[in-house]
Amino acid sequence: ASTWVNVPQGPPDAILGITEAFKADAFPEKINLGVGAYRDDSGKPYVLPSVRAAEKKIIESNLDKEYAGITGVPSFTKAAALLAYGPNSTAISEDRIAITQSISGTGALRIGGAFFERFFPGSKTIYIPTPSWANHNAVFKDSGLQVEKYRYYNQTTIGLDFEGMISDIKDAPKGSIILLHACAHNPTGIDPTEAQWRKISKVVMERGHYPFFDMAYQGFASGDTDRDAFAVRQFIKDGHSIALAQSFAKNMGLYGERAGAFSIVCESAEEKERIDSQIKILVRPLYSNPPIHGARIAASILNDPKLNRQWLGEVKGMADRIISMRALLKSNLEDLGSKHDWSHITSQIGMFAYTGLKPDQMDKLAKEHSVYATKDGRISVAGITTDNVRRLADSIFKVTG
Ligand code: PMP
Repeated sequence: ASTWVNVPQGPPDAILGITEAFKADAFPEKINLGVGAYRDDSGKPYVLPSVRAAEKKIIESNLDKEYAGITGVPSFTKAAALLAYGPNSTAISEDRIAITQSISGTGALRIGGAFFERFFPGSKTIYIPTPSWANHNAVFKDSGLQVEKYRYYNQTTIGLDFEGMISDIKDAPKGSIILLHACAHNPTGIDPTEAQWRKISKVVMERGHYPFFDMAYQGFASGDTDRDAFAVRQFIKDGHSIALAQSFAKNMGLYGERAGAFSIVCESAEEKERIDSQIKILVRPLYSNPPIHGARIAASILNDPKLNRQWLGEVKGMADRIISMRALLKSNLEDLGSKHDWSHITSQIGMFAYTGLKPDQMDKLAKEHSVYATKDGRISVAGITTDNVRRLADSIFKVTG
């Protein structure tokens, strides 16, 4: 018998299953709202012109293909820190941010998970929101952390369960690790208000918890990279030491290039040196050093003032298209005479709308209307276009009565 007879068949990835069902559907007007990647108004993948320009610059400069250091391309990590923490960051001016390039946001979370597993002095339990990005649980479990949940979503209001969230964060044992989505919460699209963030920061501080931010959508949410970094910067202002996972998949459309960063804001430059040395020891046996091309693209966009301005315009363009598709979907539902309150579609932010549709309604959407998305009622707004929004609204109207 083979060595592997006892390897069981695992369940397919939920999103991949949707893509397969979509592909198998012969209906020409089928709609795929499963994937979390931006599409333009013709439903096509979008390579940002600033990315094309940066790539051209990189190719023309004839750089070699030598290895980056363990923590990646320095001009990239330096610029990534500046983007997240802001030009007025004292943590940057005092040189106390330990940062490493990572295999996009997922890799940043994974390095963070491994670092906490090895060095976090308290209980190695991380609290994630319910619901959260489907991969958080697996990433942190595989890093050797215990994963617990805090309340986040209120089914009745299709909004934030702020009381529940605060109460669960208060009840978590002192000194727990709290995972927070910095902006554009995935899958719900529901973010705390600025006032609510201040309160969360206060409670996290009072309980001596350690905040770990996942910022996968900076700029992509509101169209403004500073506004989307509000929570991260507020926590630092409030005196928290934080960990941060950054991704350039969405805001630069660099999905497959895997450009990201993991950082820890330290108390001193001396502490930064120690943490930095341990991050290197941790990364080396994982993958030695990260890929360079995506990091060079991101660095060139962040560091060249002209390209940077262009990019900020393009990020805003993506965010604005998403925001206008939300408005169109809502107004189409209302025009059809839907009696439901769809205001959450426009109050939510980022790639996804959490429609509040139930699993059986999502099933009907797929089977009877060729509209594909995850069972939890999450639809990727990026998959909506001016051409398909009417048919989408009509399908949602029909399955929700
Ligand atoms: N965190 C969240 C909340 C996400 O939605 C995603 C992407 N879907 C990621 C992290 C990581 O994505 P990537 O590894 O492609 O940067």
